[in-house]
Amino acid sequence: MNLFSFQYTAFPSTVFFGENSFHEVFKLLAQYKKAFVIAANRQADYVKSLQDTLGADRIYHFNQVVQHVPADLIKAARQKQLDEQSDVLIGIGGGSAIGLAKALALESRHTIIAVPTTYAGSEMTNIWGITTPEGKTTGRDMAVLPKYVIYDPAMTAGMPVKLAATSAMNAMAHLMEAVYGHDTNPISYNNSLDGIKKLREGMERIATKDKLSTEANQLLQYGSFLAGKGLCEVSMSLHHKLAHVLGGTFGLDHASVHTVLQAYVLEYQWNALTADVQSDFKKSLDHNYPPTALLQLAKSMKAPASLQEIGFKESDIEKTIDIVLSKPYANPRPLVKEDLIRMLRAAYDGKLLHDQ
Ligand code: NAD
Repeated sequence: MNLFSFQYTAFPSTVFFGENSFHEVFKLLAQYKKAFVIAANRQADYVKSLQDTLGADRIYHFNQVVQHVPADLIKAARQKQLDEQSDVLIGIGGGSAIGLAKALALESRHTIIAVPTTYAGSEMTNIWGITTPEGKTTGRDMAVLPKYVIYDPAMTAGMPVKLAATSAMNAMAHLMEAVYGHDTNPISYNNSLDGIKKLREGMERIATKDKLSTEANQLLQYGSFLAGKGLCEVSMSLHHKLAHVLGGTFGLDHASVHTVLQAYVLEYQWNALTADVQSDFKKSLDHNYPPTALLQLAKSMKAPASLQEIGFKESDIEKTIDIVLSKPYANPRPLVKEDLIRMLRAAYDGKLLHDQ
């Protein structure tokens, strides 16, 4: 990466951060006739507060949310969207609720207001994903980039520790790859290093207190915002390709897959990274060998640290790598089948090859 010669695209979202920022939604809705709100029943109180304030006839609550946005759910939601004659979309939830809002925006071109309740980062990207019986397809379209994003700490504060830990690790994966992605740039690079530091500090607090404290949640929410930006601004590499295959082909939980892969993929990349990048990772993770730091972070939060633990079968290692290698893409270290198999076996066993 060259500080004085680069390409950078800024993506236009307005972000509201802080306590009670959910109330911004009331103001934003003044410019629309009827909102189609996608939110699981867990967030029903927030939807009710919108209905109570703005009138039930201006807020339609669609409460079906399914991970990976299945096509038949989109069809049902799209029909409701048309029946209700809504003119704006609100996604309150994790990547799945916001993902459904994006799938609907692809066709309706309606503005999305995103209120994330996890650290997955979808709210900051123009990336959509839809699952059909043939598998998951993803793409980019500016119509799915949420125009307004509300980071209210109350929305993530109630996450169980296990979800907070794996979701924060999911965010960490975006940041790691935004640092070493082939098309990174100084803005995304430095923001991502800052995000890594914030996430590390937040996760260390989870580990010491065994709970998601207010402070930890603030650090993680800010880190997840930078992670979503990084995911949108820089092309992802091996980690995301692998996570996509493990989640899509073998049905493993999205955030748990990211959590486990982290340390092993960084170890795979390590010697291919420049001395500057290695040094920056060491500083932001406060460890001389960052793959070990990532593994320790996962373990210290009692998050999964091996593929075995999350239900992956050893016999599927080679098949996974064959799918990963079926389409070429940029990666810091060349993708060599035997080396990738060694890496995935280490991830399966939960032991780094060069733990330090
Ligand atoms: P998710 O939205 O499926 O949520 C995971 C689980 O946590 C669900 O059971 C949900 O009901 C629950 N949950 C959500 N918020 C909660 C809260 N505050 N408290 C308690 N439980 C809560 O999962 P996710 O990890 O947020 O998102 C994963 C999905 O998002 C995947 O499909 C992934 O592909 C997609 N994603 C897309 C992008 C993008 O840019 N398009 C980015 C990241 C993730």
